[in-house]
Amino acid sequence: MFKWLATTTLLALSLHGEPYRETLYPEWGQCFHESTVLLRQKTDVQDLIIFQNPRFGKILALDGIIQNTEADEAIYHEMMVHVPLLAHENPKSVLIIGGGDGGILREVLKHPSIERVTLVEIDKQVVDFSKEHLPHLSKGAFDHPKAHIIIQDAALFVKECKEDFDVIICDSSDPIGPGAVLFTREFYGDCKNLLSKNGIFVNQNGVPFMQETELALTAKNRKPHFKHVTFYLATVPTYAGGQMAFGWASDKKYRLSEAVLAERLSKLKGELFYYTPEIHKAAFALPAFMQKQLN
Ligand code: SAM
Repeated sequence: MFKWLATTTLLALSLHGEPYRETLYPEWGQCFHESTVLLRQKTDVQDLIIFQNPRFGKILALDGIIQNTEADEAIYHEMMVHVPLLAHENPKSVLIIGGGDGGILREVLKHPSIERVTLVEIDKQVVDFSKEHLPHLSKGAFDHPKAHIIIQDAALFVKECKEDFDVIICDSSDPIGPGAVLFTREFYGDCKNLLSKNGIFVNQNGVPFMQETELALTAKNRKPHFKHVTFYLATVPTYAGGQMAFGWASDKKYRLSEAVLAERLSKLKGELFYYTPEIHKAAFALPAFMQKQLN
């Protein structure tokens, strides 16, 4: 027993670093103990930190809010990408809003039907530092011939863009600072104008148990533009406070069997950690408190 205690203590001391506290909620939050800062930078847009934690690996935070961790990023990126892309019959063109860490781009490129992916990120340093310090996220996706990276405020891009897209994935930070404009009725309307027939729009929609107003607000802002507005869920451990919601908006009502999803899934290149056709279907079942928030 003593030997075990001594080893554990030594390990703790050798790993000992500063605790990193997320500051998304003033009255509550998660803390990453024994963390080591790899990079801290005030970019032109936001406060960026990349740190290492014994349990969750490398972590990106922007303005004090966890964006992704090495340990659980696949859950979020797979659900943001494969739910709309496998629902859509034959997605060829995708627009990624935000997503400067490269995780969404990596997953989109697993779909053989994809011909072009445009990623519009406001902060070039997120792309540069993610490439350098978080290569597990993009896995070379930024250099893929089908990928076009644009550094611009996406709210401006969607106003000026003349292309159309089969799927738009809004992988933005929370509606704070530069991300706030990406949760507005105007922005959703501009995105709708860029969608091809039967196009699908999905977005990062926060943790409804903690961010009670976000679900109702984004639903209200999307309804004037789309016939079918709903949400789907996944549990991402480091999006603290409960299930993570993804906004879904389309004119076509997509009702797919697990068999069809499984057949389409079989064409994907590369391994998945979380997504399955069964999870895809189940993810759209919303608990009573969220249905109440929506009504
Ligand atoms: N998975 C994360 C989450 O759930 O919060 C999001 C990750 S990704 C790093 C969020 C990105 O959105 C950031 O790189 C941020 O710079 C970018 N962003 C925020 N506002 C933006 C805007 N108006 N136009 C383009 N990109 C924006």
